[in-house]
Amino acid sequence: MNPRYGFETLAIHAGQDPEATTGAVTTPIFQTSTYAQEGLGKPFQGKYEYSRTENPTRGALEECIAALEGGSHGLAFSSGMAATANLMNLLKAGDHMLCGDDVYGGTYRLFVRVMEKFGIQTEFVDLSDAAALERHRRPNTRMLWIETPTNPLLKLADLEACAGFAKRHNIISVVDNTFMTPYFQRPLEYGIDVVVHSATKYLGGHSDVVNGVLVTSSKEIYDNQKFHQNAVGAVPGPLDAWLVLRGLKTLAVRMQRHEENARALAAMLAEHEAVESVYYPGLPAHPQHALAKKQMRGFGGMISFVIRGGLEAARAFMERLRLFTLAESLGGVESLADHPAIMTHASIPAARRAELGISDGLIRLSVGIETQDDLANDLEQAFEAAAKGLHA
Ligand SMILES: *Cc1c(COP(=O)(O)O)cnc(C)c1O
Repeated sequence: MNPRYGFETLAIHAGQDPEATTGAVTTPIFQTSTYAQEGLGKPFQGKYEYSRTENPTRGALEECIAALEGGSHGLAFSSGMAATANLMNLLKAGDHMLCGDDVYGGTYRLFVRVMEKFGIQTEFVDLSDAAALERHRRPNTRMLWIETPTNPLLKLADLEACAGFAKRHNIISVVDNTFMTPYFQRPLEYGIDVVVHSATKYLGGHSDVVNGVLVTSSKEIYDNQKFHQNAVGAVPGPLDAWLVLRGLKTLAVRMQRHEENARALAAMLAEHEAVESVYYPGLPAHPQHALAKKQMRGFGGMISFVIRGGLEAARAFMERLRLFTLAESLGGVESLADHPAIMTHASIPAARRAELGISDGLIRLSVGIETQDDLANDLEQAFEAAAKGLHA
C-alpha cells in the first residue's frame, strides 16, 4: 500500500486488498487454527502453519494499524494489557523503568504487582516536566513508559523531549496512544520507539471487543516482540481482529465527531456555575495548550471536570444523567460518565489520589458521537436536577 495515501484511505485499504481466491472485498474472518501444508516442513505460502503464529485476519489488522501510526511493523494481542505485558519482554531482571505518574490503573498494577516479582523496578514520575527525567535516570534504566494526555487529568508529556532523553541514554521509549489514536497524534514521528494501544477503546470504537496492538519501526524491537507474541501466546481470535479492523475503517470520521462534541461540551462546562474546573487540552486555559497544539492534530474526546460540592454533588449529578451511561471504559460511539475515585481509579490509595489531584468531585466524560445538543441538554438537566435534589 502506498504510504503516501491519506489517513482515511489507509484506514480502509491498508492490509485489506480484496481476498485472493474469491475477490471478497471485506477481509474474511479466517476462523481456523491450522493450515494444510504444501509438503513436509513446508507451511502454506511459506507462512501459514498455525494460527497463534500467523492468521490472515490478524495480519490485516497488524498491517493496517502500522500504516496508520506511520510505522513499519504492527502486532495485535488479546487485550491492551496483553500488548503492554508483551513489551515487558524487552526487559530483564535488574532493569529499571521510568513511567508517568498517572498512567492507566491496569498498567500501574502490572508494573508494580507483577513485574517487580521478576526483578524489574518502576519509578513513577511527573512527565509534564521532561527535564526531571534526567534526575530520575539510573545506569540500569532501560524503558520510558509514557501516556499523553494522561487519564483522568489530561496532563501532557512533551513527545520530542521524552524521545530525545531516551535516545541520549539508549532507553526504549513507549507511548500508550489509546486516548488520542493515530488520527490526532503519531508518536513515532517524534522519535518514540513503540506505540501501544488498548484497541478496546477508540480503535475498535463500538464497545464490543477487547483487543490491543503495538507498532514500531525498529526491526530489532519488532523481531523481539513477534517472537514473544508467539512464544507467550496472548493473541486475539480472528473475529476480534476483524471487529477492530472494521472499527478502523471509520476511525477518522468518528474521531472528528468525538472531538467536535467534546470541544463544545468542554466550553460549556468551563462556563458553568456548578463546575469548579475543567481539564481538556483544547481549552486555551489548559496549562499545556500550546504543547497540545504542537504535537496533536486535535484534542480528542475525553474531558474531566470537578463539580462544586464534592462527592455528594458528583453522585447526585451522575445518577441523574440519562444519555451518558455510568460506566468504565471509553472511546465507543456512546457517551459514558466515570467517577475515577470510586470507579476506574479506586485501586489507587486515597492519599495518593489526593496527591495526584483525583478528588471526590472529579468526573470523567468519554464524549460519544450522538447529537451534540442532546449531550449538552443531558448535562444541563443533570446539573439542575442535582442542584434541586441537594437543596431539597
Ligand atoms: C483500557 C486501557 C488499557 C488496557 O487495555 P485493555 O484492552 O483493557 O487490556 C491501557 N491503557 C489505557 C490508556 C487504557 O485506557
